[in-house]
Amino acid sequence: MNENLNNVKISGIRRFFNKVKKVDGAISLTLGEPDFKTPKEIKYGMIKAIEEDKTVYTDNFGLLELRKEISTYLNRRGINYSMEEICITVGGSEALYSSISSLINKNDKVLIPNPSYPAYENIVNILGGEVISYNLNNDFSINFNELNELLKKEDIKYMVLSYPCNPTGAVLKKNEYNKLIDLIRRYNLIVVTDEIYEAFCYDNYYSVAMCNEIKENIIYIGGFSKMFSITGIRIGFIAAAEKYLKEIAKVHQYNVSCTNSIGQYGVLEGLKYGLYNVEKMKEEFINRKTYVENRLTAMGLKCFSPSGAFYIFPSIKQFNISSEEFCENLLKEEKVACVPGSAFGSGGEGYVRISYCYSIEELEIALNSLEKYINTLY
Ligand code: PMP
Repeated sequence: MNENLNNVKISGIRRFFNKVKKVDGAISLTLGEPDFKTPKEIKYGMIKAIEEDKTVYTDNFGLLELRKEISTYLNRRGINYSMEEICITVGGSEALYSSISSLINKNDKVLIPNPSYPAYENIVNILGGEVISYNLNNDFSINFNELNELLKKEDIKYMVLSYPCNPTGAVLKKNEYNKLIDLIRRYNLIVVTDEIYEAFCYDNYYSVAMCNEIKENIIYIGGFSKMFSITGIRIGFIAAAEKYLKEIAKVHQYNVSCTNSIGQYGVLEGLKYGLYNVEKMKEEFINRKTYVENRLTAMGLKCFSPSGAFYIFPSIKQFNISSEEFCENLLKEEKVACVPGSAFGSGGEGYVRISYCYSIEELEIALNSLEKYINTLY
């Protein structure tokens, strides 16, 4: 077997989810997928494609019309990539794997935020690279002092950014954006910026991909699983300067040939005519965020107010138990499931991740039970 796999763990999110499945009647606040119906424009695009037998391979890079539409969408967000600089992938997941695996060599060092989405660390481990964790401040902003020290000390070529953030809900702030641009320039870092939650940013949106002068340093990862509530359709993309994309395309081609044609036609229709659905989802997420945040604060939990994605990451440090123990007891005693913060790395210990991809009614029931459990801990 590939000995690198000895360093790869099964995702803590999955592991916990498997425990939840065994508890009859458990209410889960664990899922990272919107609960909204698929927008009708996307359904229409897919049905039409099936009826027209568009069930064959597309270009390796994806449908030209879709690449053009994504380029227009990004341009409206202040991010300049032409359609030639975009490759459609099997979700954000394949985008991450194909891009990271075409960048790094054995033992290359990659800066990864801690806590963060577990795929980054594990992809680097599968590839035999070395993970260098960078910690976040209490408000989940980047600890630039530490980052500077790491960059001075170690020979680091790559960095992963993840905004809006799973699990913390943090977004990139203007001052962090400016500092990051400086750092990327100074150390000539190549950055993989995972912006799969970009459509659900409730604050001003900043991305290092907006800075044209460092375009050659950026690999942008995007996708439609979350934005269009179509996690099972598997459409994402990579946007990067052509010098990267032509290399990434080799990995993508020999891995998947192309992503599914039907889904691509669906997303094409969604981008052209269905973006108003995303605005509606965003409004609903903001309502839910406010509700959940108020309830958690009233329970005495310290919450950093999320500005994006659909997660909140309250601290449970005052109870002096591990996040795994907290979640297991909550599941056992009140049949409510949240994800232990430790599933996102050592920096997530002392927190739990609550997803608000559930209706207010479901959230209310789950939070009432969480409140009952918390009251037993004081
Ligand atoms: N990045 C982040 C931060 C995620 O949370 C996810 C999904 N949970 C992905 C990438 C991958 O998404 P998908 O493959 O469904 O597009």
